[in-house]
Amino acid sequence: MTDKQKKTNLVAEGQMPQAGAKKTWMDQLNRKRVPGPRTTNHHTPSRDLGPSTLGIHAGTYQDPVSGAVGTPVFHSTTFLFQEKTYDAFFEGVTRDVPIYTRYGNPTQWSVQEKVAALENAESAVVFSSGMAAIATTIFALMNRGGHIISSYDVYGGTYNLLREDLHQAGREITFVDSTKIDEIEAAIQPNTQMFLFEGLSNPLLKGLPLKSICEIARKHDILVVIDNTFLSPTALKPLDYGVDVVIHSATKYLNGHSDMTAGVAAGSRKYMDRIWAQMLRFGGQLDPNSCFLLERGMKTLALRMKAHVENANAIAEALSQHAEIKKVYHPSLPDYEFDELKELCNGHYGGVVSFEIKGGDAAALRFLENLKIPQVATSLGGIESLVSMPFNTSHSSLNDHQRQLVGIRPGLVRLSVGVEDIDDLLSDISQALIAQDEVKDKQVEAYA
Ligand SMILES: *Cc1c(COP(=O)(O)O)cnc(C)c1O
Repeated sequence: MTDKQKKTNLVAEGQMPQAGAKKTWMDQLNRKRVPGPRTTNHHTPSRDLGPSTLGIHAGTYQDPVSGAVGTPVFHSTTFLFQEKTYDAFFEGVTRDVPIYTRYGNPTQWSVQEKVAALENAESAVVFSSGMAAIATTIFALMNRGGHIISSYDVYGGTYNLLREDLHQAGREITFVDSTKIDEIEAAIQPNTQMFLFEGLSNPLLKGLPLKSICEIARKHDILVVIDNTFLSPTALKPLDYGVDVVIHSATKYLNGHSDMTAGVAAGSRKYMDRIWAQMLRFGGQLDPNSCFLLERGMKTLALRMKAHVENANAIAEALSQHAEIKKVYHPSLPDYEFDELKELCNGHYGGVVSFEIKGGDAAALRFLENLKIPQVATSLGGIESLVSMPFNTSHSSLNDHQRQLVGIRPGLVRLSVGVEDIDDLLSDISQALIAQDEVKDKQVEAYA
């Protein structure tokens, strides 16, 4: 047996490769793979169709018995053993036959097919949360002794997972400024297996140099995993640029109604099979009822995103002209410095706008109190506008100095712009800022 055959056999038996072996070991997985999983009843319209058409139609389970127009919810946890079930066990393709709901269920396959269509992927896996998707993906695609490069300003949950748990599990981690390609390249080690980055950072919406990152990843044989939560596939399809796996907290824009948590990973069937196998062991699958909610939410993804983007662009513009605002962070504005991402997104930057209010955190807190439409709550991507302040939410564990370092300055507000009528949002923001002026005037009077 040659060395190469030995390595192939190891992987075929589901064992992990040697530390230091990177993407190439997966390219040796040469079993025949089909897109999906799906049945012949799952609708798979042409991928050339637009995002609204795919969002509505891709993946729908067309039930031949009832003729139902929408996907039925299969609550069953288990499925009859048939000839094809035994064949699947025999051939090692248990992902492609309904056996047990942790392994797969026609309702899960519907929503997975929809995600795959929108992200232009061969396959997708759905999870009970974004964090389940991230943790499972990392553990599936890295091994002990491997090294991962991520950004110091990734989502807090991801940061904690990388810092606390990966180290314990024998993986090395380096945090870099993901907007600086030189810094990323300098952090590469012989055992670097994965880049894990976000398209737009939270809360300052720094843009990732995605194409350059994919280029150096190819050069060094490193997997690229992108968390596309803030942008959604209507703004950016990372897989089209050479990314290996795209992840979402589907809790946010994909579902879009702030009424369930879910996560997804999408990419080639090869990587998804591996992530799926890890998911079986970690157990973070999405239950059928949540699959139904997510599938329903995604039918209006493109429609919602259009409204989020229009509203966010208008609010960013209005705030940038306002006397009470010190700085607005948004890719639509002329002073945005991350050209590479801006170009890829072509006017669609999701619905988050961040800005600094003159007068610091106290003034910003008053502004939040004055608002009547946006609700003060964390999270983003729902149809309702939500507003929060990083200093007492996502970045509360940092001290003032650390906050300065990552660019969280006093008075910073993060607004997840919803799909309410733009005139209502603009006049509410305007009255909340004017009300601030009045507070100040009263204070001046009191001292006069
Ligand atoms: C919310 C969020 C997550 C975590 O997702 P959950 O669904 O809350 O587990 C991961 N990444 C980003 C960018 C997020 O905004």
